[in-house]
Amino acid sequence: MAAKVEKTISKQIVDACQPNRARDIYCIGSFGHFVNFSAQQHRALNLAWALHKEDRLDNTKAIAVIGGGLTGVTLAAALVRGGYTVHLFEHRKELMAHQLSTDHRLVHPAINSWPFVPMIPSSSLPFLNWVSGPCSKVVSGLLREFEEMAEQTDRLQIFRDLEISNVDDGLEGLVLSHKGAVTGTRYGCVVLAVGFGDEKEEESFPAISYWHPDGIEHQTLTQDIQYFLVSGCGDGGLIDALRVIHRDFDKGGLIFETAYALDGTAVAEMILAHSDSGRGSNKKAVYIDAARMIASDPSYANLQKTLVRSAGLKRPVVRLSARNGTDPFLSNAAPVHKLMIAHAMLSDRILYSQGTLVRNGNGVQVGRNKYDAPNTKIVVRHGPNGNPIQRFCSQEEITFLRREQEDLEDVLSKKSWTEPYLDAANETVGTRAERLHRQAVRAIKLICPEASVSAGNRGFQIVLPKSADLKRIPHELFGIPVKIRATRKSGG
Ligand SMILES: Cc1cc2nc3c(=O)[nH]c(=O)nc-3n(C[C@H](O)[C@H](O)[C@H](O)COP(=O)(O)OP(=O)(O)OC[C@H]3O[C@@H](n4cnc5c(N)ncnc54)[C@H](O)[C@@H]3O)c2cc1C
Repeated sequence: MAAKVEKTISKQIVDACQPNRARDIYCIGSFGHFVNFSAQQHRALNLAWALHKEDRLDNTKAIAVIGGGLTGVTLAAALVRGGYTVHLFEHRKELMAHQLSTDHRLVHPAINSWPFVPMIPSSSLPFLNWVSGPCSKVVSGLLREFEEMAEQTDRLQIFRDLEISNVDDGLEGLVLSHKGAVTGTRYGCVVLAVGFGDEKEEESFPAISYWHPDGIEHQTLTQDIQYFLVSGCGDGGLIDALRVIHRDFDKGGLIFETAYALDGTAVAEMILAHSDSGRGSNKKAVYIDAARMIASDPSYANLQKTLVRSAGLKRPVVRLSARNGTDPFLSNAAPVHKLMIAHAMLSDRILYSQGTLVRNGNGVQVGRNKYDAPNTKIVVRHGPNGNPIQRFCSQEEITFLRREQEDLEDVLSKKSWTEPYLDAANETVGTRAERLHRQAVRAIKLICPEASVSAGNRGFQIVLPKSADLKRIPHELFGIPVKIRATRKSGG
């Protein structure tokens, strides 16, 4: 009997991303529990590495990447570094357009997956690395690095404001359609990195995009708002509920503070121990128990004080709702968001009820609860509308991608490449070291503006003021160790 051949990691990755074995079209989906900046960049880097390793790329032909969000940008950068020619197509006028102007939200590479990953503030990627900070700053830093790369090579072409409607098989390769016309180039391979799609626009409740400022964090009780309704229990809805009740929300900084304070504690252990992934299954009791532990165990007294002070009586109470059959703890939202919602529920700062939000005469209704419109502020976070891969893949292919990519989530969403990352670019060691040093300075200064960074033979060395919070300094940047050489007096 023939021995069962173990599939290599690279083969598993390629297979999970190829919906039709007869076509060289691959898809980086938004399937699974962990879909965020960091996880999507890992999905992109894993796929580029696996395609190269499995010899799926023909370097006599260009590769088309459809979608200029963070996933497509990371994938394009990886393939260009690997020596391939890439054409990147983005439907909007800018790459990463949604997030480029988002000043009112902070992003963190670990927050959405914590406590399943430690709270390390650097994404620790070989390039297009970033550290936690305001979304607009993070994204503009990544774009700057990508555009610098594009300027230095003729193997990358970026087509903005160009929506691809179809991928067809031509005689000499795959061809793309735009506005009914076929683009001239024949591609050896096409990768779909088209993301989740845009947020659902409800007819009677127009939503402001999650990434655009809506000012709800400034709402206070003095403004005649008696009810604050948040409809939707994904990350968007949970974060907005927390934004409203917490005076010290600080663009999400309070969520990071909470996770930093709980990293490695019994509360984190509790979430880890009672859950396969912390998401998806009914874990309400676990989160409520964990929140009670924060509220009653003296070892969490500082965090408890911070949270109670922030969600003070002058803040509005939020009525959170979701359609029947789901709740905040059943959703795919991040564990730390669920935990903070559970904590706010203990003191009735957030009240949850099931039901669909509907208009009712001059007011609105959720389940049996009715609210007058003038004193009710409504936030709708119902997630994306459809899936942009529908135009490229059949329903059967999407079902295949979902199943395979959910099954392989642990491999796809974390670092799975097994050797130094692809680097066929003709960079000299000197220029690479200089560029990494520049990026490291930028990254560390975002965390601690007074720090100074120097590059030593064995890694980066950092001098920090005494007041710096060491927990926030990453142990490595771009795969290179970070050493704290000495601390000096604050401001010294
Ligand atoms: C409401 C919401 C809140 C989120 N909050 C966070 C958060 O706080 N932190 C975090 O880390 N992650 C968050 N995420 C996830 C994060 O936005 C994504 O993981 C990240 O943006 C990477 O996405 P992407 O590139 O795969 O998709 P997108 O950012 O959606 O990019 C896809 C791109 O493809 C383009 N495109 C689509 N179809 C075509 C086509 N046919 N032709 C050409 N171009 C096309 C689109 O215009 C778009 O620019 C959130 C997501 C949503 C929806």
